[in-house]
Amino acid sequence: MISAPLIERKLCGPGPCNPYAEAQVALTRPLLGHLDPEFLRIMDETCEMLRTVWGTENPRTLPLSATGSGGMEAAFVNTVHKGDVVVVAVNGLFGQRMCEVASRLHARVVPVDSPWGEPIDIHAVRRAHPNPDIIAAVHAETSTGVRNDIAALGEIKGNALLLTDHVTAIGGSEVSVDDWGVDIAYAGTQKCLGVAPGLAPFTISERAFKRRVGRPSSWYFDLGLLGGYVGGSAGRQRTYHHTAPTGMVVSLHAALTRILAESLDTAIARHEAAGAALQQGLVDMGLELFAAEGARLPQLTTVRVPEGVDSAAVRRHLLEHYSLEIGAGVGEYASSVWRIGLMGPNASPATVALVLGALGEALGR
Ligand SMILES: *Cc1c(COP(=O)(O)O)cnc(C)c1O
Repeated sequence: MISAPLIERKLCGPGPCNPYAEAQVALTRPLLGHLDPEFLRIMDETCEMLRTVWGTENPRTLPLSATGSGGMEAAFVNTVHKGDVVVVAVNGLFGQRMCEVASRLHARVVPVDSPWGEPIDIHAVRRAHPNPDIIAAVHAETSTGVRNDIAALGEIKGNALLLTDHVTAIGGSEVSVDDWGVDIAYAGTQKCLGVAPGLAPFTISERAFKRRVGRPSSWYFDLGLLGGYVGGSAGRQRTYHHTAPTGMVVSLHAALTRILAESLDTAIARHEAAGAALQQGLVDMGLELFAAEGARLPQLTTVRVPEGVDSAAVRRHLLEHYSLEIGAGVGEYASSVWRIGLMGPNASPATVALVLGALGEALGR
């Protein structure tokens, strides 16, 4: 949902400095070898900066060589054993995907459904099972534009481990793994961090690691082996596991450096301001927002397609005439909802103005 043409324009054009541009520039530099000491330093610093972004002291914090879905796979395959009770709060596509991943590991999956567009129901999650092994939920449900309250899940988790998805949240919303009682968490690079797709920032508490991680059925995502791969930062000798995608790690390092130099709070505030301005502008245009009030994500806005309007034709028009890509709805909302992402470099007043102007023109409003 990050539109490449917009990033290019902001890179080359006048106006305020784009804090995310460095991540793109890094991808154009000559590649470092995966054993080059310079690369190893960059990897160590990346893990350290990820701890700051996650709000955690977990030594086992690293960028997995995978997209966000690979992060999900790694989270479940390491901590879920056959027959485990896994309660999953579901209010969109990514909650459903968690159920699918857990069921393939032969867990006893207990989905707790809330209507799409509404936040998850914390009390229903607590009542779903007396003693679950894992409670899982998505922080920012990208399919519906809804924010779920992960801190509240941490309060009711009891003896269960809390496993959470922050793919769309990280870099755009506050994430506090340690304060919220999150045990296992994963994210992605291509949403609010404004980096290309391809890495999954990951973190797991020592408590969760000791309690659950044995010899997972996945070799590639075996966190025991990956602890050696990131070496120094996990306090161990570095050993070869797989070839690190060095270009991507260098790009993520550049993005995190710039975001933290500017401050994470500033980046989050920018996403909040952009989302609020977009949502107000859409309402002023007479459109109806889809996600429930009080649970709306700033970085992903869902809005109902007005009666009689061809959703796909409008999306095509925006892409062809404005280099602007907005998403269709998901599942049963495919043609009745639009999803507008304002993430990373696109969480800016300029992009908000462009979206509102272009959509107004397309709809004749
Ligand atoms: C995008 C997304 C994913 C999947 O990430 P990929 O990088 O597409 O594999 C998972 N969960 C959420 C909430 C997402 O928004």
